[in-house]
Amino acid sequence: MKKTPFITKEQVEEIVKDYPTPFHIYDEKGIRENAKAVKDAFAWNKGFREYFAVKANPNPYILKILKEYDFGCDCSSYTELMLAKSCGFDGEHIMFSSNETPAEEYVYANQLNAIINLDDITHIDFFEREVGAFPEEMSCRFNPGGVFSLSNGIMDNPGDSKYGMTREQLVCAYKTLAEKGVKRFGIHAFLASNTVTNEYYPKLAAQLFQLIVELKQETGCEFSFVNLSGGVGIPYTPDATANDIAAIGDGVRQAFEEILVPAGLGDIKIYAEMGRFMLGPYGALITRAIHEKHIYKEYIGVDACAANLMRPAVYGSYHHLTVLGKEDEPCTNVYDVVGSLCENCDKFAIDRKLPKIEIGDYLFIHDTGAHGFSMGYNYNGRLRSAELLLKEDGSVKLIRRAETPADYFATFDCFDDIQILP
Ligand SMILES: *Cc1c(COP(=O)(O)O)cnc(C)c1O
Repeated sequence: MKKTPFITKEQVEEIVKDYPTPFHIYDEKGIRENAKAVKDAFAWNKGFREYFAVKANPNPYILKILKEYDFGCDCSSYTELMLAKSCGFDGEHIMFSSNETPAEEYVYANQLNAIINLDDITHIDFFEREVGAFPEEMSCRFNPGGVFSLSNGIMDNPGDSKYGMTREQLVCAYKTLAEKGVKRFGIHAFLASNTVTNEYYPKLAAQLFQLIVELKQETGCEFSFVNLSGGVGIPYTPDATANDIAAIGDGVRQAFEEILVPAGLGDIKIYAEMGRFMLGPYGALITRAIHEKHIYKEYIGVDACAANLMRPAVYGSYHHLTVLGKEDEPCTNVYDVVGSLCENCDKFAIDRKLPKIEIGDYLFIHDTGAHGFSMGYNYNGRLRSAELLLKEDGSVKLIRRAETPADYFATFDCFDDIQILP
């Protein structure tokens, strides 16, 4: 499918008068339409809730938009919990799915009455020692081991991943937690990442539904929810087909009706913790071509770098690029589009066919709404960019200012013997 930017060159030329490149910009209209589609897809389940994975886009303005749809937050650190709290999410709307969790984070999550999802059986003793009494509702994370595969060739290796408990451990964990006073239980599993197929959630759901039917018999515990977690993908490449969330919701409903309803578990709530699917396509990194270089290959140097978007550098991920204003021009040139880090992996595109790029052209790097800005870092003294929200009326709101050198030096400002001179 042709990938189309949600903003034009003319709009960007207006925006840069106030906010210079590079910046991430988010499309509020797209975010809202997608949020509504997610809600509709699971409307058949009375207790359905999406807990947005905060790590994908930890911006309060974004979280507040999602809050309007009664979504919650999925947090896994102290500061993510603080962020959820400061945006007004109550305990019922905070899922704490962490791993290798520091004690103070369990204490804080418990204070907020968040739903705590234990990653390991040893965390039961840890929790009791560090926090004390257990809440009435808790969840455990399952890892079935082995290989998880889908019919379109998507594979992931739960057996190699650090998360979750084995089936035997789950049985023991639920029994132990029940003895310690927990009354209602959830189950959680995250078995494959960026699945561009409508099959993933239904297949995972069927596996977890079957498991809780068995676990209920084996442990006598009462289950209240199944958390399908994240992993629903987006089409980063033009040849991929977008997931159909309505079909995904319907697939989960079928498994629900086949497995849970006959077992008398028709009240189970379905939870999700999608990050990428909720925000990925509705964000872009806007950057300007500032150099061209002709050596053994053709390079275009831009004013953004991997510190603004690290997925290509770290995972070799494909992010589609559109040269704004040249949407319909033929792709006559082959470029590496690169940032300024002293790291040869700092390349947004390698051997990419694009229209001829002039210095000053604006590039729209697609699909940076999730795991984009939030993975940023300060290597080479590069500063994090601004984040902007393109509102439904076409106006633009600054939702995070760009970092300044003062931010970079802020962690030294407690030392009297360090003076930062311009
Ligand atoms: C990262 C993560 C998510 C979100 O994953 P996406 O691929 O962005 O949907 C959800 N839950 C947990 C526990 C995670 O670590």
